[in-house]
Amino acid sequence: MRGKPVQVYKLYSVEGSVVKRLRKPCPKCGNGTFLAQHKNRLTCGKCGYTEYLS
Ligand SMILES: [Zn+2]
Repeated sequence: MRGKPVQVYKLYSVEGSVVKRLRKPCPKCGNGTFLAQHKNRLTCGKCGYTEYLS
């Protein structure tokens, strides 16, 4: 799943903070893996990390 660091920068540069809020990188996997957004939480499909939105 590694080897595409360019993709990260592209996502971040498009709309700045807006993109950051929508696609948060997994704190465990690093910036190459983004969390999938659900109704009230974010999950990582790679390691199973879950972050609840308040
Ligand atoms: Zn992860």
